[in-house]
Amino acid sequence: MIEKYDVVILGGGPAGSAAALTLNNIQPEISIAIIEASHYEKWRVGETLAPDAGKALRSLGIWDSFLKTDQLPALGTCAAWENSIVRDNEFIFHTEGKGWHLNRVQFDKWMVNEAVKKGTTLLTDTRYVNHEKPVDKKRIITLQKNGKRFQVETSFVIDATGRSSSFMKNENGQKKVYDRLSGSIVFFKANKAPSNIKAYTLVETTETGWWYSALLPNDQIVVAHMTDADILKKENLSDSTSFCNLLKQSLHTKHRVEELNPIEPIKILSAASMISNSIVGDGWIAIGDAASTFDPLSSQGIFKGIRSGMFAAYALSDSLNGDQSGFDKYERYIQDEFKEYIATQNKFYQMVQQWPQSEFWNRRQKELQPVS
Ligand SMILES: Cc1cc2nc3c(=O)[nH]c(=O)nc-3n(C[C@H](O)[C@H](O)[C@H](O)COP(=O)(O)OP(=O)(O)OC[C@H]3O[C@@H](n4cnc5c(N)ncnc54)[C@H](O)[C@@H]3O)c2cc1C
Repeated sequence: MIEKYDVVILGGGPAGSAAALTLNNIQPEISIAIIEASHYEKWRVGETLAPDAGKALRSLGIWDSFLKTDQLPALGTCAAWENSIVRDNEFIFHTEGKGWHLNRVQFDKWMVNEAVKKGTTLLTDTRYVNHEKPVDKKRIITLQKNGKRFQVETSFVIDATGRSSSFMKNENGQKKVYDRLSGSIVFFKANKAPSNIKAYTLVETTETGWWYSALLPNDQIVVAHMTDADILKKENLSDSTSFCNLLKQSLHTKHRVEELNPIEPIKILSAASMISNSIVGDGWIAIGDAASTFDPLSSQGIFKGIRSGMFAAYALSDSLNGDQSGFDKYERYIQDEFKEYIATQNKFYQMVQQWPQSEFWNRRQKELQPVS
């Protein structure tokens, strides 16, 4: 017997869980399944939860539960951006007062479990493989668990697979890619939180790109160097000796991890800014990073994902009640949001003028345009 769900959400990151929670709240009679490739065992990237996310978590009805998790308050960002002087941007002046530094695996696991508590079915270790065209508004999705394929049937698919946008790509969708930003990411472990680290994210520019670092729960410190993929390769930044040598040349970041050792090998990840050219299709919608991705400098990716999951769920709920207009509005919203983000991004990168010989910064003195 093939399992049937009204809505299948591919991907149990923050965007997928927010969509499920919203549907659980406003349309409790419909059946929802989240299909998640992992069982939330491996590290995940994206550690700063922007203060605005508090409003979204309250609106999803999971704020009190969030406060019981072991995440760390984040009081702001210190940035040596357009010159070497560190300036503080305090969240205290924000209506929410603070953001959060997350253990991302725990956060994502907590959020998906909140959706499960409200009635969502969660299939972990289960990967979306492909799908068929809808027949009479029903669609067959092929999944894989432990090497075995099986199928589920649904009326609506939400693509929340993150940067891979797996469903959207199988629909022949493409992405407009604006840069080749990539991160070399290292986690350090301290026996206890080092006294020289405040509850702030530290951002610092260098000739090759920029650094960010933050203290995380469990006395871990994340340190990431962001540059373009070709420069990362040229500087050999997937090699820990080259990474540590470059780190030693930083003015401020190096002091956060003095005498500490990396706990895991370097991870290399794309952090390119992209938007999908098809965000809504026949019986499906893309949310979170599957729809558009922002530079980590914005610290907006998780919040943006949660918000888009909520908006997409409202559009879907309206369509189930006979009003199809929400899908167009959603697509326009994602496009406008991205346009505004690119304009802000240009402004921030163009502020950095102190490395006239730098390939990385020279590329950013012009307006970002799609590179593919
Ligand atoms: C270096 C770096 C630093 C960042 N720092 C920050 C930060 O400080 N703050 C911030 O807000 N954002 C940050 N981001 C961005 C943030 O991590 C993402 O925007 C956010 O995770 C997007 O959430 P999502 O739910 O859309 O996708 P994801 O979090 O990527 O979740 C996608 C889910 O889908 C699952 N999946 C993928 N493929 C399949 C498949 N075929 N079948 C089933 N499941 C699948 C994955 O296992 C995952 O659980 C950073 C990104 C990078 C690259």
